Amino acid sequence: MQNSASLIASDIDYDRTGLQTGTLRLPYSHDRSAYGHIPIPVAVLNAGSATGPTVLLTGGNHGDEYEGPIALMKLMRRLPDMSIRGRLILIPGLNFPAFANGTRTSPIDKGNLNRLFPGARNGQPTEMIAHYVESELLPRADVVIDLHAGGASFDHAPTLLAAPPADAARRDIYLQLVRAFGAPYTMVMDLLGEDRTFGAAAQRHDKLFLCGEFGGGAGCDAANLAIVETGLRRVLRVLGVTSEDIPTPALDTRVMAVHGPRHYVYAPVGGVFEPAFRLGEDVRQGQLAGRLFDPHAPWEVPREIAFRSDGTVMCMRTFARVEPGDCIALLASDSHRD
Ligand SMILES: [Zn+2]
Repeated sequence: MQNSASLIASDIDYDRTGLQTGTLRLPYSHDRSAYGHIPIPVAVLNAGSATGPTVLLTGGNHGDEYEGPIALMKLMRRLPDMSIRGRLILIPGLNFPAFANGTRTSPIDKGNLNRLFPGARNGQPTEMIAHYVESELLPRADVVIDLHAGGASFDHAPTLLAAPPADAARRDIYLQLVRAFGAPYTMVMDLLGEDRTFGAAAQRHDKLFLCGEFGGGAGCDAANLAIVETGLRRVLRVLGVTSEDIPTPALDTRVMAVHGPRHYVYAPVGGVFEPAFRLGEDVRQGQLAGRLFDPHAPWEVPREIAFRSDGTVMCMRTFARVEPGDCIALLASDSHRD
């Protein structure tokens, strides 16, 4: 029989109580390192699975997004002093080769982890990470929070991405977590049929899954970092993992929804893009989104790009240079409006 167990090994014993820090060993035998592996740092704080839920917290799914990983590294430093119920599993740099390289995708295999689920045991390193998440982490987790930002090419308004479960009781708990996180925006995402994401994997495993976009441009925004850190503290409190007193969010989250292709703005041709909007701006259908200049014929009239729908700009491209098919902006509508 073919062995389906992950080839990623670890000294971490997820069932042992107490605090453990260590690495997941991703096999990577290459010209400079026969028998080598890539160590992926992980921390587990376990008070016993009978005492509460297992919460899996990840960042660095894309390697150029930093608010999540920094929040998780700061949380890791607090673990020795924390008294919890249940179990916390923290991995700040999930696609570690990409995280160490500061790029969206892995420099080894160009793998975009969030497009490779369910992964492959015998695949390339990024596929092997996805397979480990599917076969070892998701089965152990009750709640998963995967923290993102826009990466080098996007700036994203601080937004929790929500996919509420259909079942009423679980939906209720889920919405409590969403409100507790208290991000300025909560967005029901439409990935246009994409089902190779961590979120899709978590859904297949019937786990409560939250993710979010908290900034971008491959930087770390202090205000967005604070939103992530406080949000995580509140969610862990609501789940009963911690018992610390955290003030409730000052403002209600603004619940938004993405409605298919009309909410996406793409570059139809290559060029240099002059935006006519700001992040967070409310725009109307037909309103000018910007102008595309042809760098090879700068004397020509620039091509005007219009928004195809009313909405709020949740995310915008950071690079002015565009190729055909690059996403320039993503809109969402207040979910109570349509
Ligand atoms: Zn991301």
